[in-house]
Amino acid sequence: MATGICYLVGAGPGDPGLLTVRGRACLEAAEVVVYDLLANPEFLAYAPDSAEKINAGKRAGDHVLTQDETNALLVEKTLAGKRVVRLKGGDPFLFGRGGEEAAALAAAGCRFEIVPGVTSAIGGPAYAGIPVTHRGHNTALTIFTGHEDPKKAGPTLDYRALAAAPGTKVMLMGLERLDTHCRALMDAGMAADTPAAVVREATTPRQTTVEGTVGTIAGLARGMRPPAIVIFGGVVGMRPELGWFEKRPLFGRTIAVTRTRKQAGGLVAELRELGADAYELPTIRIDPAPDKRAFYELVADTHIYDWLVFTSPNGVDAFFEAFFKIYNDARDIGGVKIAAIGPATAARVRAFHLSVDVQPEKYVAEEVLKAILEQGSVENSKFLLARAEGAREMLAVELERRGAIVDEAVAYRTVPETDDPSGGIRRFRADGGAGLVTFTSSSTVENFHALGLADPSEVRAASIGPVTSKTLRKLGYRIEVEARRHDVPGLVEAIIAHAR
Ligand code: SAH
Repeated sequence: MATGICYLVGAGPGDPGLLTVRGRACLEAAEVVVYDLLANPEFLAYAPDSAEKINAGKRAGDHVLTQDETNALLVEKTLAGKRVVRLKGGDPFLFGRGGEEAAALAAAGCRFEIVPGVTSAIGGPAYAGIPVTHRGHNTALTIFTGHEDPKKAGPTLDYRALAAAPGTKVMLMGLERLDTHCRALMDAGMAADTPAAVVREATTPRQTTVEGTVGTIAGLARGMRPPAIVIFGGVVGMRPELGWFEKRPLFGRTIAVTRTRKQAGGLVAELRELGADAYELPTIRIDPAPDKRAFYELVADTHIYDWLVFTSPNGVDAFFEAFFKIYNDARDIGGVKIAAIGPATAARVRAFHLSVDVQPEKYVAEEVLKAILEQGSVENSKFLLARAEGAREMLAVELERRGAIVDEAVAYRTVPETDDPSGGIRRFRADGGAGLVTFTSSSTVENFHALGLADPSEVRAASIGPVTSKTLRKLGYRIEVEARRHDVPGLVEAIIAHAR
């Protein structure tokens, strides 16, 4: 018997946080992933790069794979001995035809397991502030499909039974014929003033909710496109009190985050947590020092310097990567004093269990110099500056003017990102550059500019501080937000204030 196995995994309704721990573990071990349109495409990143990823996604009327083809594919891959993940929107056994897939696997003698997921029928209303049951309102929940099997003759929905059933009703699919469904429900005895709501793209940053009654909802939701769920029942009335998701500070805002491929993730995650539809726009990439030998030689000599100056978190990372390749003992760094510009840079130094002697808040040469001079004269002191390739730091020039001996270690360089690993560039083009674009350094500005994605005057820039803003203005960008504190949390704060 083959050792293959197929996991039917519920991907939840859309919010990437609503995948189960077990679902993620299955993806991480997958050799083949067969996914749906409704499943969040970001989950594919959990699967190993080597895993084969097959889109079985279907839009109404536009089948990529028929259900029979999907069943046959799952059986074929499982019989071939693969660890297969069948990733399905919501819960695999609720109107997802997961039962049919499991039956096909069982009939072929394949091993399979079911990993339930958060269904849109319950999770969707929850994100709209609607509990599907509530003491005092109802003691039952009916979930039904508004999409009828085209192979069956005549309507199969028993509207009379639906109208007579006590409690909340949740309809999946069938949004296109909401009007017909509502009329039929009222004809069957549902009171026209029964509260009703439509939640579209529930649990995603694009969630939209329309509220009315069974008598009015079809008109109010006209033009809304699937996927959407429709909720009928008194519990809809709790939404004003319990709505939470759409009230988050950045809900409904689109924000493109231009950072390096390595760094964008943190800011994107933070903005999403606040409700924004944030995505990564990779414009630059960090490459190793162009002259590795020169860099390593300077790093090896760190103990002979009086001061070690870091101007960016990337510089800190590159420095210590080299340092710990050369030395095994942190004490080899010697008695050097450490200056780190900006809180993020300082935090990175502390992450290596070294304390920071001077931490100028502002990313400006004069400020740094002032802070260092407060510690005493720099005359004849030896400075090692770990910096990016490119223009000489003003700081080096200023230090030398005051008699210091300065060596500059070119630790890394930023280069324009030419491929689009996260799809952000495609997304930006598709949106026509809507929403804010964040810039966290002059090089992100320059590299974004070099991509030529948008007319600068039409970009709404959110800048981390005056130096970045200056570069933006020079290139003709409009600054809509400028952080008061020049680090990532400061930028987030400013974006929230701007959204109010
Ligand atoms: N198994 C899925 C349902 C599949 S049927 C689940 O448990 O959620 C597809 C229908 O699910 C859509 O037509 C829509 O009614 C609903 N649906 C799925 N995801 C949704 C979402 N994010 N927002 C609103 N409705 C959704």
